[in-house]
Amino acid sequence: EAKRQGKGRYETFRPELAELARERLDLENDLRNALAQQELFLLYQPIYDISGVRTTGFEALMRWRHPVRGIVSPLEFIPIAENSGLILEIGAWALVEACHEACHWPDEQRISVNLSPAQFRRQALVDEVTRALAITGITPSRLELEITESILLDASQHNIDILHQLKQLGVRIVLDDFGTGYSSLHYLRSFPFDRLKIDQSFIREMCDSREALAIVRAVTGMGKSLEMEVTAEGVERPEQMALLQQEGCSHLQGFLLGRPGPAADIVCGPTNALESTSSRVPN
Ligand code: C2E
Ligand code: MG
Ligand code: MG
Ligand code: MG
Repeated sequence: EAKRQGKGRYETFRPELAELARERLDLENDLRNALAQQELFLLYQPIYDISGVRTTGFEALMRWRHPVRGIVSPLEFIPIAENSGLILEIGAWALVEACHEACHWPDEQRISVNLSPAQFRRQALVDEVTRALAITGITPSRLELEITESILLDASQHNIDILHQLKQLGVRIVLDDFGTGYSSLHYLRSFPFDRLKIDQSFIREMCDSREALAIVRAVTGMGKSLEMEVTAEGVERPEQMALLQQEGCSHLQGFLLGRPGPAADIVCGPTNALESTSSRVPN
């Protein structure tokens, strides 16, 4: 905040900032017990093939049922988990939990799990994935690990080595939120990703902005030439879906097709999402 105000200005005491800091500390303390108290859980959002008829897998999205605050968004608690180091324990739990759940699904359905940059800072990540595969018995190629460009930004060679080791295990590596980082294109050269997820911001604007559409088109074309699947995330409107089909995108994810819901709701096989969205609970 002080930085954004520019040089030559200094921070004055702002009671609302102290309040925010205290609230964050409270949340951090509560988060320490959340795992043991079984307050963390995963919802699963379907990923569809381009026709929007068949699911090819589900993305695990974490939620925190706080005893006083109710459901807390990952956008709020994941950064706290990252700064406090708690993400290591929480991330390891999510990996096993998601693989375990996916074992109940028909074979071809994949499970995607998000990884934080902090999980890359130690070698244990490879051991944890190995362990999750072993104790759940899931076929490695059904597990997709979603990473963001920030993983490639810091300590790049170390992290790319880890990505290669993960790939050796037979799991798939996905580049999430593609297009939002500083040098997205550069990273495509550094690692053979299995899938790119075009960031929702481009999908949101593609029907109204020539620039956003051009970027979606370029990423889709690039994915094809590089033999990477391309998933559009944040598909909310039929017009967006139609345009993505026309552009040759390979997979669709978004509220139009299905919201994140509890594992118990998952009905696999050919289900037309556009006709049965009512069975899913709201986000
Ligand atoms: P993400 O991995 O990019 O996940 C996609 C987010 O977009 C999810 O938000 C999902 O609910 C939301 N979304 C999907 N379709 C639509 C749509 O059509 N419209 C709109 N407006 N939103 C849509 P969510 O669940 O709140 O998660 C936010 C972020 O939190 C995730 O972004 C991911 O970065 C992080 N996150 C969630 N679960 C985990 C986890 O288990 N571990 C880690 N490290 N991060 C997680
Ligand atoms: Mg993701
Ligand atoms: Mg994303
Ligand atoms: Mg995102």
